[in-house]
Amino acid sequence: MSFQVKDKVVIVTGGSSGIGLELVKLFLLQGAKVAWCGRNNERLQSTYKALSQKYDVEQMFIHQCDVLQKEQVAAFVSAVVERFGAIDMLVNNAGQGKVADFFNTDEQDWVDELKLKVFSVVNMINTTLPYLKKSDIASITNVNSLLGLKPETHMVATSVARAGLLNLSKNLANELVKDNIRVNSILIGLVESGQWRRRFENRSDKSKNWDEWIAEVASKKGIPLGRLGKPEEAAYALLFLASPLSSYTTGSVIDVSGGLSKEI
Ligand code: NDP
Repeated sequence: MSFQVKDKVVIVTGGSSGIGLELVKLFLLQGAKVAWCGRNNERLQSTYKALSQKYDVEQMFIHQCDVLQKEQVAAFVSAVVERFGAIDMLVNNAGQGKVADFFNTDEQDWVDELKLKVFSVVNMINTTLPYLKKSDIASITNVNSLLGLKPETHMVATSVARAGLLNLSKNLANELVKDNIRVNSILIGLVESGQWRRRFENRSDKSKNWDEWIAEVASKKGIPLGRLGKPEEAAYALLFLASPLSSYTTGSVIDVSGGLSKEI
């Protein structure tokens, strides 16, 4: 099945791990030109090396960039345009969650979460907009979390920031319709990826292996499908929303949470 993105240019922030990396692979398979970033250059280089065994390097571009740093975002976007000459799709994926309740969240934590979940996305959008406006398939797709709708006390700042991003996505979908740019999001529950690997490494009770530990997390959370999602399951939804296959969809969200959002 073709997602009609062959030779189109996509930026995936945080493409060196987890959901972002799976999305990079899907776009490469579809013949798109893919630019991805991350902060850790070694990790970027190693994903590039691994993917270059399987995909055409003419389709691939990496650039070290912290999406929190405006100047780095500007340099990344210029480098993409220099390499590929256009930008058709932006996928804002970079990030991680902050585990802390209200009483363990200080002012700097609040600022950091809002910067990561809102300002980094604003920076990426502002910088890519002039190019997206010229595309005939333009889209912005944001990786968001169910926390934006179902706040969790142990992730208070992340929940607030995610709600802000959800609001921003809807607002921009309305505003950018005049430029033919679609804006959509996915809301994920729990996806097996870097964040969960890190939490597993730092677990206090080391008696359980990865599979046992992850099964326990799914059961404690009461996920109806009985397991965590795989990164590629989130990536499939992102590919659909970013591509022209969802050409009549804007301001929308796809829930990729294994049924965790039980409400209508
Ligand atoms: P991973 O940790 O596997 O991947 C995160 C990616 O983002 C890495 O490539 C990382 O590279 C990059 N990244 C992180 N911070 C920055 C930054 N400031 N600038 C540029 N790149 C950055 O996580 P996931 O795949 O799970 O996460 C993808 C998105 O999904 C994130 O926004 C996360 O918050 C969200 N999410 C994930 C959930 C889950 O259960 N997995 C649940 C809810 C939301 P590097 O470290 O080198 O910068």
